[in-house]
Amino acid sequence: MKFHEMNEREIVEVLDTDFTEGLAEREVIKRQKQHGLNALEEGEKPSALLIFFNQFKDFMVLVLLGATLISGLLGEVVDAIAIIAIVVINAFLGFFQERKAERSLDALKELSAPQVMVLRDGKWGKVLSKDVVPGDIIKFSSGDRIGADVRLIEAKSLEIEESALTGESVPVQKHTDGLRTPNPGIGDMENMAFMGTLVTRGNGVGVVVATGMKTAMGQIAGLLQSAETMETPLQRRLEQLGKILITVALLLTVLVVGVGVLQGHDLYTMFLAGVSLAVAAIPEGLPAIVTVALSLGVQRMIKQKAIVRKLPAVETLGCASVICSDKTGTLTQNKMTVTHAWSGGNTWTVDGVGYNPVGEFYSEGNQVNPNRVKPLQQLLTFGMLCNHANLIEKNSEKVIDGDPTEGALLVSAMKAGLTREGLSNQFEIVNEFPFDSQRKMMSIVVKDKNGRQFIVTKGAPDVLIGHSQSILWEDKQQPLTKEMSQKVQGAIDGLAEKALRTIAIAYKPLPGNNIILSEKEAEKDLTFIGLQGMIDPPRPEVKQAVKECRDAGIKTVMITGDHLITAKAIATELGILTRGSKVMDGATLSGLTVEELEDVVDEVTVFARVSPEHKLKIVKALQNKGHIVAMTGDGVNDAPAIKAADIGVAMGITGTDVAKEASSLVLLDDNFATIKAAIKEGRNIYENIRKFVRYLLASNVGEILVMLFAMLLALPLPLVPIQILWVNLVTDGLPAMALGLDRPEDNVMKRGPRHPKEGVFARGLGWKVISRGFLIGIATLIAFMTAYHKNPDDLAYAQTVAFATLVLAQLIHVFDCRSEKSIFARNPFGNKYLVWAVISSLVMVLGVIYYPPLQPIFHTVSIVPKDWLLIIGMSALPTFLLAGSFLASKSKKNMI
Ligand code: ATP
Repeated sequence: MKFHEMNEREIVEVLDTDFTEGLAEREVIKRQKQHGLNALEEGEKPSALLIFFNQFKDFMVLVLLGATLISGLLGEVVDAIAIIAIVVINAFLGFFQERKAERSLDALKELSAPQVMVLRDGKWGKVLSKDVVPGDIIKFSSGDRIGADVRLIEAKSLEIEESALTGESVPVQKHTDGLRTPNPGIGDMENMAFMGTLVTRGNGVGVVVATGMKTAMGQIAGLLQSAETMETPLQRRLEQLGKILITVALLLTVLVVGVGVLQGHDLYTMFLAGVSLAVAAIPEGLPAIVTVALSLGVQRMIKQKAIVRKLPAVETLGCASVICSDKTGTLTQNKMTVTHAWSGGNTWTVDGVGYNPVGEFYSEGNQVNPNRVKPLQQLLTFGMLCNHANLIEKNSEKVIDGDPTEGALLVSAMKAGLTREGLSNQFEIVNEFPFDSQRKMMSIVVKDKNGRQFIVTKGAPDVLIGHSQSILWEDKQQPLTKEMSQKVQGAIDGLAEKALRTIAIAYKPLPGNNIILSEKEAEKDLTFIGLQGMIDPPRPEVKQAVKECRDAGIKTVMITGDHLITAKAIATELGILTRGSKVMDGATLSGLTVEELEDVVDEVTVFARVSPEHKLKIVKALQNKGHIVAMTGDGVNDAPAIKAADIGVAMGITGTDVAKEASSLVLLDDNFATIKAAIKEGRNIYENIRKFVRYLLASNVGEILVMLFAMLLALPLPLVPIQILWVNLVTDGLPAMALGLDRPEDNVMKRGPRHPKEGVFARGLGWKVISRGFLIGIATLIAFMTAYHKNPDDLAYAQTVAFATLVLAQLIHVFDCRSEKSIFARNPFGNKYLVWAVISSLVMVLGVIYYPPLQPIFHTVSIVPKDWLLIIGMSALPTFLLAGSFLASKSKKNMI
């Protein structure tokens, strides 16, 4: 018999499980061994060896190896071995960079791995989806992706979208009854839920019947979701740039070789020098260093509790000009406490702290017993009944398991001495219409001890009024006239002005044993009982974060389902709603087209009482106005807006799987301030990439030019091939990487966002590369010529001087690159990685100059101390020339 044909008893028997206790942990371990991981098999990854050998597939490296082999055969054995050694070291460097990038991307994947709510040893808890085994009892609700194939044992308004398996995008209504259709297809198995399908409504519980490759999804191998593109626009642009640079470097190399041969140098020497120059000058390491810089930046973001799911978002973050943020939980703490209750013209206050269920009720300052005041008692009872939250203890602190709004209602009822057990003796819940942000309410059908049925609805008060036809006033049911409605509205506004979140409670007796079929039928003609108002304090760090964003040219917009007045009060407190900015409610928003919204969207900073669907309209209007938009969200209905936004941000704690999958950034702490931190990091990563592009390219220009100038001036070769390769290794390696780890400049959040179309060489970077490259080339040439003219018989000495000057000029330049302005704009030794990288590079260079066994290999000779004056002077010259012009322009500015 198949699972969909079995009844509950049969399932329990076959799977040897227990619906109330779940499996025991010991049993889980046993079954994990037996069934393996609950994961779909992935394609093979390239092995470490393959990654290593891939480093050699570059065309110029192959030419160099070929040329070296020939020179080895011609007798230049030492040269050949040294060159090969350097190429191998270079390959190792590339290998480690690539592995590091790969590993950090894997770690990211691990962090965003799906989780499942599972019942084990009688307790519900979250585990990684891959650890689920057959027989496990799992729970899911709207927005979740189902973690394994399950037979449903509970389904409340459960609808699941199964297009991943069936291609059918209309959600299927699920139930727990046995199936009558013989041999049903997947789409017809209404009492089953399948791995990878999506809960679009309601909630359910199921027992796992298949995991991993045994699931329906596992059997359709071709349907595995294709991997997201991980390449960023900048990486693509650099790749294109790389191709241009290769051509330019090759042309220049050919020029150097051509001129050299014409000037009488022998062809073989020039060929090897040319190939070495090409290998050194082509920035083949650039893409790998960019990936490393991106992934290291991404790791820093993780430390700040932001997970980047799609690498391109790192760059887009730096361009963000608007952040649209949910209120509850993101701008506020989502720690709700009921402080006020209202019914029939009476207001009560409640004291107590947080979720501790201890507090008293007062009316006009006098303590009251809530159980003696009928409307208040009803308000509290129904608030607890229509409620899924649980109060639990974590680290000896009371916390809420479930929705904090419901948690607040639970705690206020507990303060009156009500308990769940007490209520379950009196009432049985026979049906439920779960909460959704669209309706802004939820309802239950309750049966009391006498078998009488009634509806309890709780939800946004202004919405609930519209669904009520009478009101409980002074213990009597009265028609909800216009006048009455206005009184209630006044009470709602009064609570909202205190920045309280309000929830209304209403009810309706049902005649006879009526079974309610639709929520529409249930949620009409209600009797309004009253309100509870709860505080949800703003997160303390948000005010400062909003200010920093404003300084950085980024506007913060609050988008909330909450009441307009509550939203206004909190937005004002946080500095989001300021003089000149406007608020708009969902009803107004519904009446506007995207084009009409565009006209006003720049002024609006608070959108209240909106539905998730409205978010898409807001994103579109902002984007049409040229903004780069970050949009937060957590529910299923938020997904389209998250996807459409330039940076979709999902909540790590409260977010559903769907919202997370649609997002490019996940906030582990659901905190607005984390978005700001991620933007800062995004800007910094981009600047760091610009820093080492500037550094590497200027170095390469310098290397080519010194060779070209020497050939044009009919001088001997200023550098021998192995020296060129060594310079490349020493400068391209550690110092460039260390620039990628640099901290942001102070002004990184004090200037406007970067334009998304801005090129790599914008803001004067191209000029900086060429001018600095030119100066480095000239300075090296002067040092070479000076040494050569002093002693024309000792070419090796002059070449060693040129070698030292070139390296030193680059190692000084690297400090320059830390700032857009000049080496003196910030403490040059502020980046300790860079300081160590430069020290180790210096040791490597001094080693080949002074360590006798290395001298013959690198064709170097010891430099006498006084010539270091020449070397240091020449290599520092470019920096001082440019720093001088910076200081001069600064003092001119100060004088003005
Ligand atoms: P944000 O979009 O900033 O997170 P929000 O959490 O207030 O705001 P929704 O969750 O859509 O947005 O809630 C909208 C309204 O619905 C709330 O103002 C409240 O009155 C009501 N509400 C919220 N949670 C519940 C619930 N569990 N049951 C009934 N009504 C609720």
